[in-house]
Amino acid sequence: MNFETTKDFAQQLDKNDSLAHFRYKFWIPTLNSVSKNTNPSKEETVYFCGNSLGLQPKTTKAYIEQELEDWKNLGVEGHFHGKNPWLFYHKLLTKQTAKIVGAKEIEVVVMNNLTVNLHLLMVSFYRPTQKRFKILMEGGAFPSDQYAVESQVKFHGFSPNDAIVELIPRTGEDTLRTEDITKKIEDLGDSLALVMIGGVNYYTGQFFDLEKITAAAHKVGATAGFDLAHAAGNVPLQLHEWNVDFATWCSYKYLNSGAGGTSGVFIHEKYADDDLLPRFAGWWGHDEKARFQMKKGFIPMRGAEGWQLSNAQILPMAAHKASLDIFEEAGFENLRQKSEQLTAYMEFLIESFNKEQSKIKIKIITPKNKAERGCQLSLVFDKEGKKYHEILTQKGVISDWREPNVIRIAPIPLYNSFMDCYRFYAILKEIAG
Ligand SMILES: *Cc1c(COP(=O)(O)O)cnc(C)c1O
Repeated sequence: MNFETTKDFAQQLDKNDSLAHFRYKFWIPTLNSVSKNTNPSKEETVYFCGNSLGLQPKTTKAYIEQELEDWKNLGVEGHFHGKNPWLFYHKLLTKQTAKIVGAKEIEVVVMNNLTVNLHLLMVSFYRPTQKRFKILMEGGAFPSDQYAVESQVKFHGFSPNDAIVELIPRTGEDTLRTEDITKKIEDLGDSLALVMIGGVNYYTGQFFDLEKITAAAHKVGATAGFDLAHAAGNVPLQLHEWNVDFATWCSYKYLNSGAGGTSGVFIHEKYADDDLLPRFAGWWGHDEKARFQMKKGFIPMRGAEGWQLSNAQILPMAAHKASLDIFEEAGFENLRQKSEQLTAYMEFLIESFNKEQSKIKIKIITPKNKAERGCQLSLVFDKEGKKYHEILTQKGVISDWREPNVIRIAPIPLYNSFMDCYRFYAILKEIAG
């Protein structure tokens, strides 16, 4: 499609958008609530930060209230006689979760938080030996992932300097080439124990070719696991088919389940009955039928559920369920289709902006190829990026600043409109004078 830079055109795109009404299922922050300074008003912000904290569905409150009511009225009996018996609450999320990451139901479970799960999964899937002990990561991975990997390596008695290998883009390039990743895996060969990278890099927005990376890892006898914090609910995933060994993600970014929300885990079916895999166990992972016999000797449940430790966190899971129901209603393929168009339109407007004035030049470091990105565009301003980020915020654009020099914007297909993109463009023009 040929885009145009007029407001009319943006409005037309919104009119033709069959998902446009989903925006009204979310609370959009207003300028009034976010700005402490200029012209407080009830006008909606341009909320481009759903990659950091997704917006609140209007239904979330009712989902949580349902559980509060059951707790109020039933006390402990809510485990059995609540509307959604808590004993099995996590199972309510399984089917939709499996769909979002392209998994079988046996392969997923919702539990804990992301970094906790990264550790639990590495306990099972990072089993270094004197010969095979290296972990391949993307350079500049999200800090929590860096710390998790570093501490796992040390836990096994290795030095992070020897054991952690980082992928760095070629000189003059901002993102990684798949062939360079697979080549590195080949070169590391039988010294490589694990590939552990973000499915979509939080900084550049690059969506890696998880299938090829997994195949390359397996070819040298290593395992492949991914942090999907920026991928789940954002890009199409086929974890089962791609033969990924394990993955985990959070629910509060693209999955709109509230700050600090619960996390999802994928463990490939091939491990579903592997009782010999070491793991840190807890009673909720124990064979369901025998869980309350309180006996010695851990017998894991089949599949990902066997990695659970604690009984389910009902309130965060209720928030998660509210959002998953919206994803189901919208249909992920529809969302992806809109997302590709929305982000391409935003990209077009930024490129137009560059051509139309000479004061500010914005470089988009996110790959141009749709297959290599999700919603997010990472913008590098030629100068004073941090200052421009502050001005954008004052003018009602909620985006985020990431050191050393990126402004990330994420037009989210569930609740952002083409007019949001246009407003961002108009504000940029205002700033450039
Ligand atoms: C958001 C994010 C995290 C945050 O981890 P929590 O345990 O949820 O605090 C970790 N890793 C990546 C790649 C992220 O994007």
